[in-house]
Amino acid sequence: MSGEFDIIARHFAPLAKDAPLAFGLKDDAAMIAPPKGQHLVVTADAVVEGVHFLHDDPPGQIAQKLLRVNLSDLAAKGALPLGYLLTCAFPPDIDERWIAAFAKGLKADQKHFGLKLLGGDTVSTPGPATFSVTMFGAAKNRAMLRRAGAKPGDLLCVTGTIGDGGLGLTELLKPHADLSAIQRKFLIARYRLPQPRNRIGPLLHGIASAALDVSDGLVQDVGHLAKQSKVRAVIDLAKVPLSPAAHALEKRDPDIRNAAIGAGDDYEIAFTVPPKRLNLLKSAAQKARVRVTVIGRIEKGEGVAIALADGSEITPERGGFDHFAR
Ligand code: ADP
Ligand code: MG
Repeated sequence: MSGEFDIIARHFAPLAKDAPLAFGLKDDAAMIAPPKGQHLVVTADAVVEGVHFLHDDPPGQIAQKLLRVNLSDLAAKGALPLGYLLTCAFPPDIDERWIAAFAKGLKADQKHFGLKLLGGDTVSTPGPATFSVTMFGAAKNRAMLRRAGAKPGDLLCVTGTIGDGGLGLTELLKPHADLSAIQRKFLIARYRLPQPRNRIGPLLHGIASAALDVSDGLVQDVGHLAKQSKVRAVIDLAKVPLSPAAHALEKRDPDIRNAAIGAGDDYEIAFTVPPKRLNLLKSAAQKARVRVTVIGRIEKGEGVAIALADGSEITPERGGFDHFAR
């Protein structure tokens, strides 16, 4: 394995070549010039071997997921991605081939999402491999979409389909017997390679009253939005959009729908919209070519309720992913 500076020069500097203010990763720091009249939106996410990925996972996919979970946060805030800082803590068993494959994953997604590497840090660790990204985006009008802002009467919406990431993880741990190979592949891909909604995010300015990234389970995350907005959210269970693969599973096991709204790794955007802006939302969804579904409504009160097919409402138990839950 070569030294720290060789690794940076060989594997990371090429990812910064389109960012003149990263100075080829040869200075102490980089600069960011946000587009005129816009503010920087910043977010960070880290992944740890054994917690977020497994030792034998493909390095390129670990890199892409790391970028995409950050991209999803920017999307939910209505921000356009600009660039990122990358901190790598490599244990002794990671060799240069592994780093090259990791950098290849970064390169592919930089191109796909219009991102640049601006800098970072490279250290060694006796512990599990750990990677952290701090990502910078820009939002118009000095404002990003907030979790606070939903009002009684607003509609609750979500992008894409819910539950695929969680079902994909289940599929890896304990395959369902009755899925086709294509459906199985789809669900696992949704777990390993989330599709952040960066096309529609920035279009939600002036449409959404509140928004957040759904990463730890729809119910739990909508609960965060309700809490910050000081309102009650009602999720209409039957309206929660499922993928064809999840539908196939639901036919055998009606509980799949309940699992889907509690599972993590969706990386969709949940947001609220005043009914009079529904037409604007439809145009935005068409422009971004993203599926958007109205899944419920906002009322006075607090918490999250699930409306069932018979019209009754239940309050879900605390669900979703929590690193420190015991
Ligand atoms: P310091 O001595 O202050 O820790 P470094 O020698 O670690 O600085 O970093 C030198 C340059 O390389 C800096 O521009 C830094 O941003 C960049 N850099 C270091 N590690 C990474 C990385 N993993 N990804 C991108 N840039 C990096
Ligand atoms: Mg350093």
